[in-house]
Amino acid sequence: MHRQETDDRTAAGPAGEPHRDPFAWLDDQAERRRAAGLVRTLRPRTADSDLLDLASNDYLGLALHPEVTGGAAAAAHRWGGGATGSRLVTGTTALHTELERELAEFCGFEAALVLSSGYAANLAAVTALGPHGGLIVSDAGNHASLIDGCRLARATTSVVAHADPDAARKAFDGHEGPAVAVTDAVFSVDGDAAPLPELAAVCRSFGAALILDDAHGLGVLGDGGRGAAHAAGLAGAPDVVATLTLSKSLGSQGGAVLGPARVIEHLVNTARTFIFDTGLAPAATGAALAALRLIRREPRRAARAREVASALHTRLTAAGLTTVRPDAAVVSVHAPTPDEAVRWATDCRSAGLVVGCFRPPSVPDGISRLRLTARADLTEAQVTDAVHTIVRTAPAGALRG
Ligand code: PMP
Repeated sequence: MHRQETDDRTAAGPAGEPHRDPFAWLDDQAERRRAAGLVRTLRPRTADSDLLDLASNDYLGLALHPEVTGGAAAAAHRWGGGATGSRLVTGTTALHTELERELAEFCGFEAALVLSSGYAANLAAVTALGPHGGLIVSDAGNHASLIDGCRLARATTSVVAHADPDAARKAFDGHEGPAVAVTDAVFSVDGDAAPLPELAAVCRSFGAALILDDAHGLGVLGDGGRGAAHAAGLAGAPDVVATLTLSKSLGSQGGAVLGPARVIEHLVNTARTFIFDTGLAPAATGAALAALRLIRREPRRAARAREVASALHTRLTAAGLTTVRPDAAVVSVHAPTPDEAVRWATDCRSAGLVVGCFRPPSVPDGISRLRLTARADLTEAQVTDAVHTIVRTAPAGALRG
């Protein structure tokens, strides 16, 4: 039928009832979610609550640090509630360039670019550096933002087995022309680390670049929290790019890409999530800068976050729970089913402990988990309390033997 013809189906005017409910299919999906126990709801967080938080990504306990909130407030007063424009127009303040210089220096890279989120940073890096007509080799456990970057890039993506440099080698093998590998440095669900030195060696043997997402490594891994690339001896390498979020260890919001100056210049000129997005809000920029300076002054925080993670893992495993050995500050505890995972997390909350609850489709292998984040500011008594609560409320099927 020609588009301009009308019939009964299109006769209703703007004020009329639609002939057919265009969202009816949403109800089918909602029903399927309910039946599978996978409904998600939003729960506002209460400020100043007595709950013990093992769910946020505030790994170093800096989000409410007075220097960080003070940095945010001062930046908002000086520069305004928002950045007022994209970075290339009016959205770059002196704070943005200071943060870029200090992030690059701290993590050991030549240059940095700040974006409005870690998600935007990953889209920028993968779409701008995933070579047109070339190959992207992507770990099967990668974060959604890297996956979306691959989907948007004008390259062919080969998804390879998780944390398996040999699988990456096979994917590169026989490919001619530009190529890149992308991986989380620390995987967000299980907290396991990518085999970065081995992966970098594979990339180098094929002349491919390596993009690593250090959302969960910054502030936790490497000397004083300089991140996974620094820990692996890859910081500042001419073929390595790292992406960051400012929303976890730095207790703020925003993202960044670190790499060789020519890579950053390319992103400034081509990355759509940089060019067409409003610059990071001054308050977030000021908070991140204050947090970065604090971490530099207090390098013990990174090691403490790792110690807390290790203590949680050891004690929960000894109690009979299945937990993944943490490489950074994320501790993942297996739950028997999605429903039991939700009930377990709810029971923990009733007992005063907030934990993350991950279910399909957020878990790559279909196994639901409680996700705990080890914060550097937790006391021994809080760690003991958390372990008791998690073990006491565990569903029978979660405990081994
Ligand atoms: N990468 C990873 C591995 C993450 O876990 C996250 C956040 N959950 C992001 C990127 C996105 O960062 P942001 O929240 O700053 O957009």
